[in-house]
Amino acid sequence: MRENSQQLFDKAQQFIPGGVNSPVRAFKAVGGTPVFMKSAKGPYLFDEDGNRYIELINSWGPMVLGHAHEIIEKAVSDALQRSFSFGAPTRKEVEIAELIVLMVPSVEKIRMVNSGTEATMSAIRLARGYTGRDKMIKFEGCYHGHGDSFLIAAGSGAVTFGTPDSPGVPKGVANDTLTARYNDLEHVKELIEANPNQVAAIILEPVAGNMGCVVPDPAFLKGLRELSTRNGILLIFDEVMTGFRLSRGGAQERFGVMPDLTTLGKIIGGGMPVGAYGGRKEIMDYVSPAGPVYQAGTLSGNPIAMAAGYAMLDYLNTHPETYQTLEDIGQKLATGIKNSLQKTGLSYTLNHIGSMLTLFFTDKAVFDFESAKTSDTALFGRYFHEMLNQGVYLAPSQYESLFFSTALTDAHIALILEANENALKKISRQ
Ligand SMILES: *Cc1c(COP(=O)(O)O)cnc(C)c1O
Repeated sequence: MRENSQQLFDKAQQFIPGGVNSPVRAFKAVGGTPVFMKSAKGPYLFDEDGNRYIELINSWGPMVLGHAHEIIEKAVSDALQRSFSFGAPTRKEVEIAELIVLMVPSVEKIRMVNSGTEATMSAIRLARGYTGRDKMIKFEGCYHGHGDSFLIAAGSGAVTFGTPDSPGVPKGVANDTLTARYNDLEHVKELIEANPNQVAAIILEPVAGNMGCVVPDPAFLKGLRELSTRNGILLIFDEVMTGFRLSRGGAQERFGVMPDLTTLGKIIGGGMPVGAYGGRKEIMDYVSPAGPVYQAGTLSGNPIAMAAGYAMLDYLNTHPETYQTLEDIGQKLATGIKNSLQKTGLSYTLNHIGSMLTLFFTDKAVFDFESAKTSDTALFGRYFHEMLNQGVYLAPSQYESLFFSTALTDAHIALILEANENALKKISRQ
């Protein structure tokens, strides 16, 4: 059924470490062979063997309007006529910056980079340069890309492979990263008190997706804001996942809590490799060439990527009903999945907000990394393959969130729920 994928994966392993260019794609957490994709349109993925799947990851978030949306296709093909890179400033960079500042409430100035990883690495350097302090606080289970400072208790990829601290990260760097429990304000207070005037930044996913979907207690976000302000610490919201997804202005708008710096990625590039970091003017003016903190990029603000990103953001900005559609889709799927779970009697916790959702196979509430880890990952693996075999493509790990797109109609939702019920029945019988 997936012979071409198998052949490609066999060959890939000869030439690419682990056969993939990003670890979670390898299906290690669920077993089996990764599916090699050939094309996609709207809510569907098509693999190298001609199988069709309904898409519930959407390239880990970016394809929020579904695949190959005509607005973005047109913007990219127009931009292609005018060359692919200049290494000089362009009009689109100004337009997209103005649009992001309009959409994301706390952002007054923005710098474009090429990935979420680059955005968080740059934001933390800026926070250190601006405050003159070295340490930062991050949360167990939160992923902020693969920068050295962040590969400490770093969620999905690292959890999956059981090596939370990667070899190659210097001890000195790791020592400057303090880790706290998500949703635990007291723990953050203790860390700040134990390191007086040394913490430059607190960084978090304002809704976590990288230990599975974990929603913050609103008081936790507000408390972090107060603690940061009181202690001269910069609060960084890593909205690479949540930006332009949980609302037009991201999680910060949804929860009404304003960070000092925001990192963006995924949706901001419309499927092209783009990231960005932005925030208050006086902080952003610390970035080179306005200020002393160096950060650069040969392909940053690339015209093709900017065309795709601008088309995406402009659509979202001018179609606010998109967010109601995403809420409705998320609600229907969450309700339907729960109904089937109750019929089968399996232990579960379903975390859901807007168009993000994770079904954890545990009877414990999941509010941090420890509680997420009580999940039965072997059972998840069986569920994943039952869904895949029925043509529904989920994230291949328990510790990931699903991301829905507006391309899902009620007919697709009915198909997903039917597959879900079949899969749950099968795994509860085994
Ligand atoms: C995906 C992700 C990143 C890393 O972005 P890349 O583009 O993969 O480098 C950083 N932070 C969060 C919250 C993410 O989900």
